[in-house]
Amino acid sequence: MKKNYLMTPGPTPVPPQALLAMAEPIIHHRTPEFMEIFREVCELLKFVFQTQNDVITLTSSGTGAMEAAVANLLSPGDKAICVQGGKFGERWTELCKAYGVTPVIINVEWGKAVDPKAIEAELKKDASIQAVFTTLCETSTGVLTDIKAIAQVTKAHNAVIAVDAISGLGAEEIKTDEWGIDVVVSGSQKGLMIPPGLAFISLSKKAWEKVEKSKSPRYYLSLKKAKKAIDATDTPFTPAISLVIALRETLRMMKKEGLDVIFNRHKILALATREAMEAMGLKLFAPTAPSNGVTAVSLPEGIDGEKLVKHMRDKYGVGIAGGQAELKGKVIRIAHMGYITDTDILMTIAVLGMALAEMGFRGEPGVGVEAAEEVLLEGRDRNPVESA
Ligand SMILES: *Cc1c(COP(=O)(O)O)cnc(C)c1O
Repeated sequence: MKKNYLMTPGPTPVPPQALLAMAEPIIHHRTPEFMEIFREVCELLKFVFQTQNDVITLTSSGTGAMEAAVANLLSPGDKAICVQGGKFGERWTELCKAYGVTPVIINVEWGKAVDPKAIEAELKKDASIQAVFTTLCETSTGVLTDIKAIAQVTKAHNAVIAVDAISGLGAEEIKTDEWGIDVVVSGSQKGLMIPPGLAFISLSKKAWEKVEKSKSPRYYLSLKKAKKAIDATDTPFTPAISLVIALRETLRMMKKEGLDVIFNRHKILALATREAMEAMGLKLFAPTAPSNGVTAVSLPEGIDGEKLVKHMRDKYGVGIAGGQAELKGKVIRIAHMGYITDTDILMTIAVLGMALAEMGFRGEPGVGVEAAEEVLLEGRDRNPVESA
């Protein structure tokens, strides 16, 4: 018999309430019944995004909202800063190129966070830069970016700041309005705890002004069309009805738990994971700016990350992620985002210890669990008031 556990940085496990909601017979979207659900979802999304602006729901994976940001804010020939410190930062560059936007690339060593001063320097050098594209949690490296500082820097310029918070939202603090973030993009299958298929984007007034001026072609991803519809609690096209209904369940859970408690839970799970890895003699890939949603771990000489991931999945039913692109085989990534508890993390660390031992890694398999238990028992920073 095998039981499966999903510990990957997207998709993430879906709570039973949301699964059950999706099993209900389908309803039509142009009905008062769906309208009421959609109205509540839109309200709750504003709560999670920490914004008073509308959060537009698109039927696509997260990348659809990234593409919507580029296609709706910019015109061919525009310039935009793209912070590239991992696979998802590179996606901003690729999207810009696809829309004829010239990327001003800020390369960051993988595993490190961008220095906001580097962004400021580029903005000061060239006043024609229209946007700064960055990533809250760079899922490929496990790095957390100081979005607050970048928003502060961008505010003084003509450019808007657009943040890929696809894996960050619901795991990391991001105060959209308070920090002055113009565009926040997210997806459904990470911290928001439902299956893949929905993407989200919020825009500030400054961002909408750019939308008005943009000359890029778009149709399905037109944000003006989406905004017009949302003003009537509607969507321009058939929404992924069942996913929206499931989302209502997880957003209600989030509202009930409270954002501070959610962020603190992620913080503790991340800390437990990091301490476990170090106790086991493994190195953190991003020790200086680790995210609370996913931990990337460098593997010792002689341990193939791809094989380790496969071994954990095949023998133990535990799905973690390997490395992407240049990190393929060299790191593993353990997610602790969304519907994840202490128990899930303890189990994953225990299984990792066993799998490493089976693959010939000389270390004591149990010490990771012990280190994690210590953090979890202490519930370090468990009180959100203290940690604020
Ligand atoms: C998962 C992820 C994406 C891609 O989302 P898709 O839903 O696969 O399109 C983009 N950026 C980040 C940071 C992610 O974690």
